[in-house]
Amino acid sequence: MNIAVETPLQTPTAQLAAWVEHLGERLAQRDLDGALELFGEECHWRDLLLFSWNLVTLEGKPAIRDMLETRLDQTRPERWKLEGEATLSNGVLEGWISLETDTARGKGYVRLKEGLCWTLLTAMRELKGFEEPSGRRRPMGANHGHTHADKRNWLERRRDEEASLGFTAQPYCLIVGGGQGGLGLAARLKRMGVPTLIVDKAERPGDQWRGRYKSLCLHDPVWYDHMPYLPFPDHWPVFTPKDQIGDWLEMYTKVMELNYWPRTECLSASFDEQSGAWKVEVQRDGERVTLQPTQLILATGMSGVPNVPRYPGAEVFNGQQHHSSRHPGGDAWSGKRAVVIGANNSAHDICADLVENGAEVTMVQRSSTHIVRSDSLMDLVFGGLYSEDALETGLTTDKADMLFASIPYKVMPDFHRPIFDAIKERDKDFYERLTKAGFMLDFGDDESGLFMKYVRRGSGYYIDVGASELIANGTIKLKSAPGLGVERIEADAVVLNDGSRLPADLIVYATGYG
Ligand SMILES: Cc1cc2nc3c(=O)[nH]c(=O)nc-3n(C[C@H](O)[C@H](O)[C@H](O)COP(=O)(O)OP(=O)(O)OC[C@H]3O[C@@H](n4cnc5c(N)ncnc54)[C@H](O)[C@@H]3O)c2cc1C
Repeated sequence: MNIAVETPLQTPTAQLAAWVEHLGERLAQRDLDGALELFGEECHWRDLLLFSWNLVTLEGKPAIRDMLETRLDQTRPERWKLEGEATLSNGVLEGWISLETDTARGKGYVRLKEGLCWTLLTAMRELKGFEEPSGRRRPMGANHGHTHADKRNWLERRRDEEASLGFTAQPYCLIVGGGQGGLGLAARLKRMGVPTLIVDKAERPGDQWRGRYKSLCLHDPVWYDHMPYLPFPDHWPVFTPKDQIGDWLEMYTKVMELNYWPRTECLSASFDEQSGAWKVEVQRDGERVTLQPTQLILATGMSGVPNVPRYPGAEVFNGQQHHSSRHPGGDAWSGKRAVVIGANNSAHDICADLVENGAEVTMVQRSSTHIVRSDSLMDLVFGGLYSEDALETGLTTDKADMLFASIPYKVMPDFHRPIFDAIKERDKDFYERLTKAGFMLDFGDDESGLFMKYVRRGSGYYIDVGASELIANGTIKLKSAPGLGVERIEADAVVLNDGSRLPADLIVYATGYG
C-alpha cells in the first residue's frame, strides 16, 4: 500500500501562511527588495484605507514600491497572519489574512500564482482606540444609583442632541444626501462617536425609492443589499419592492439614531481656510441655516439629475410626456398608446408595466443593451457569493463584499468573461429570440458582462425579470437601429429619424441620469 505523506509545508494552508509571514518579516525589516521578491511580475495590491488612507489599486511592482516607500514608515504593519484555511484551485492559492498597523486593525485577502503574489487586498476594519461600542463594549443603558451627574433619560438625551446639532453645536461631519449611501456612512460614524448630521431635500428618509415608478423592485437580491449593522430579517423578499425599501431606510434612520434633517436642501458650500471648516448654506423648511462642519460629504447619488432630451416639437404634444423618474406607473394608460425612449432597466420595467395595464407600447432602442436573465445572474454570478447557498458555507455578506473587493478591476473581466460565456450558452435560445425580434444586444466592451458594464458606464443594461420575453414575442413593440432617434414630436406622435411615425398618448423618456 502506498501512503502519501504530506509534510506541513506541502499543504496549501502552510504554503500561504509562510508567504504571509515572509511578507510581514520583510516589511518589518524595511526590506523592500525582499518584499517585492514575493510578488509576481503581474501583481495588484488593492488598499482600502489601511496603508494609503485612500481607496487605491497599485498595479505592478514599481507602483507597490512607490506606495511602500512613502507609506511604510507611517503605517508600520505587523502581526500579519493567515486566517483559517487556504484553498488551492486552478493553480491559484488563496486565503484570508489579518494584520495591524500603528493606528488600525485590518483584514485582507491574498492570491498567489506559482508561489508569488498575484492579488493582495488590505482593508482597514477599525481604528485602535476608537473601537465601536458593540458586543461586550455595548453601553449599559440603565444608569441606576445617585452617583451619575446626568439624570436625563435616553429620550431626553436624544432630543437634546437633535436640538443642538447644527445650532449650538456644529456637526463634525455633514452628509448631504440621505439615501442608502449617506445613511450607511452616518450609521458607521455614529457608532464611532463622530457628531454627524445628514441633510436631504426629500420629505422623508426613503423617498428616493418611494418616488420611483410603481412596479419597481430592487434588481439586486437581498443578500447583496443589507445595510451596515442591521441586516434584513430572513423572511425578507429576494427582490425588495421600492416602498418596502423606502420604509426600511426610514426605520433605519430612526433605529440607528441618525441625526437627519428632511426637507433641507444644500444650496452652496465653501471651505474657509482660516477656521479650517466648511461654510454650508442649507434651506431647511424654507429657512436659511448656515452649517460649519469640519468634513463635508456629498452622498447625492448617481440618479439624482435626470437626462431629459429636448426634441423639436415637444411643446406641441397633446398627450403626457415625462422622464422615467417622474413616471408613476401604468395604471392610467389602459387602451392608450405609449412610446418609451430608451432600452435599459427603467425602459424595460416601464414598458412591461404599461402593457400589463393594457397599453399599446413601443420601445425605441438606438444602441445595444446588455441583457442578462435574473435567474442566470442569480445562479452563475451572484450565487457563489450572495445567496442562501453561500450563507450555508459561511460566506456572509461582509465576507462576500470583501472577496468582491479583492478582485482588482484590471483582472475582473477575466473573472467574469467565462461566466458570461456560460450564460450565453445557457440562454442561447432566449438571446436568439430577442435578436430575431430586432433587439440589439451586447455583453460589454470586452464581453465581460454586467459588472464591468456597470462599473464603466453605470447604465446600458437590463436584468431581465420578464420584459425581454414580451419584446421577443412582440407584446412590447420595438423600433431599433443603430443611431435611431427622435426627429421631432408632433401633437399626437413621435417621428423617428428613419421616417417612422409612432402615434402616442404618452411619451416616457427612459434616458437615464446625468
Ligand atoms: C429606477 C432605478 C432603479 C434602481 N435599482 C437599483 C437596484 O435594484 N439596486 C441598486 O443597487 N441600485 C439601484 N438603483 C441605483 C440607485 O439609485 C442606488 O443604488 C441608490 O439609490 C443609491 O443610493 P445613494 O445613497 O448613493 O443615492 P440616492 O438614493 O440617489 O440618494 C441621494 C439623496 O441625495 C439627496 N440630494 C441630492 N442633492 C441634494 C441637495 N442639494 N441637498 C439635499 N439633498 C440632496 C436626494 O434627495 C437623495 O435623497 C436604481 C436607480 C433607479 C433610478
